[in-house]
Amino acid sequence: MNFADETGLTSIVATAYHCSSSRTSEIAMERKREASRFASAMTHHVAKLTFWGVRGSTPTLERDTWRYGGNTPCLELIAPDGTRFVLDCGTGLRMLGNRWTKTHGDHGIEAHILVTHYHWDHIQGIPFFNPFFQSQNRFHFYSFQSKYLGPDSLRQVLEAQLAKPYFPVEISLMTAAREFHEITGGDKWEINGTQITARFLNHPQGCLGYRVDTSGGSVVYATDNEPGVPEFDQNLRQLAQGADVLIYDSQYSPEQLASERKGWGHSSWLEGVKIAREAKVRNLVLFHHDPDSIDKVVDGFLSAARQEFPATWAATEGMSITMSERGVNVEMRESRGGQRRRLRFSAIVSGQSEDGQAFEEKATVRDLSLQGAYLCLNNRPKLQSEVRVVIEATGDPTTSSVLSLRGTVVHFDAGREKTQNGVGVVFIDDSDPLHPHD
Ligand SMILES: [Zn+2]
Ligand SMILES: [Zn+2]
Repeated sequence: MNFADETGLTSIVATAYHCSSSRTSEIAMERKREASRFASAMTHHVAKLTFWGVRGSTPTLERDTWRYGGNTPCLELIAPDGTRFVLDCGTGLRMLGNRWTKTHGDHGIEAHILVTHYHWDHIQGIPFFNPFFQSQNRFHFYSFQSKYLGPDSLRQVLEAQLAKPYFPVEISLMTAAREFHEITGGDKWEINGTQITARFLNHPQGCLGYRVDTSGGSVVYATDNEPGVPEFDQNLRQLAQGADVLIYDSQYSPEQLASERKGWGHSSWLEGVKIAREAKVRNLVLFHHDPDSIDKVVDGFLSAARQEFPATWAATEGMSITMSERGVNVEMRESRGGQRRRLRFSAIVSGQSEDGQAFEEKATVRDLSLQGAYLCLNNRPKLQSEVRVVIEATGDPTTSSVLSLRGTVVHFDAGREKTQNGVGVVFIDDSDPLHPHD
């Protein structure tokens, strides 16, 4: 929706009116619903997987990568009995740490951290994980011995990140209890009833894939892998056999993988589809998006993969997957940018339903996110100064709707109408600062 287009704006406001229910009661209702969902979930064996970082190689901040997210790999898996697992320690780990600190307060946190390998994008969140700096917490780390580092590789990797002159905080301040477990490809072990299996994948300097079998469902985390070496290809298929969720390296397009990115240690959605079919997995999640893949590129990979394997998802920051005997359920976090305004007007919506059938229907729009506007003004406000824009919706039969928005001036030009100034405004979000993962 383009708010710079005056014609479009008129047609929107013509049938718009405010929703009467207050936001506060709406939040209270949602909390109640959440609590009852949680209570009913607890009577079943439910495992919950949350994606805190999905980007490969290096974090991205470009706006056109925001929808899928820019943090490097980090996943949280909570087994049905409450045992916590972390898969990789990319930059997404910082947000997970903040979340745990907020929800646990001074109560101790215990978690099992499975690290696939020691490339930066899988470890660089470690110095920024608050719970490491709180003595009541306890962490169990698992990964393999690197031939470049020798025994105690994982501890070395962790401590080197806090060494001078790379980081200002002393390792002695990392007061949480830390236990390091050296594992290798082929190892299987159990933690509070959850089975973990590790297998080597094909990646420069080595990488482990993990399978985690909880009583709620099974997850296979196979990132940073290049197909084409029979031993590793077989490892992966054995690991993935019959899994509820396969998270797979889909960094490149099949064409890139066959040409200029061959030998870089990554894979494509097409390989993911092949493995998913051969290993009879139930859901495929495309993961480790290339830092140069803007959202539209990932959209393209996802839609191509879905033509071949409909139960495919593209890993997105904040996405969560719950698994139980009732099946697998995928949810996305709130990802709309801009201010949200409650309204009600009609729209024609067309798309594809879950079974692939095209549909078109008249629907009600209940709220809109507003990012900015292009205004024609006689005045000339200063760049980066604040303005208030009050939009009156006169089409409402009962009462005049008003959208009152605070914005900051980001653009100025001579104006589309020659007698006035053209002013670009980005709206400032005045709503309650709900946590993006709430
Ligand atoms: Zn990586
Ligand atoms: Zn890597």
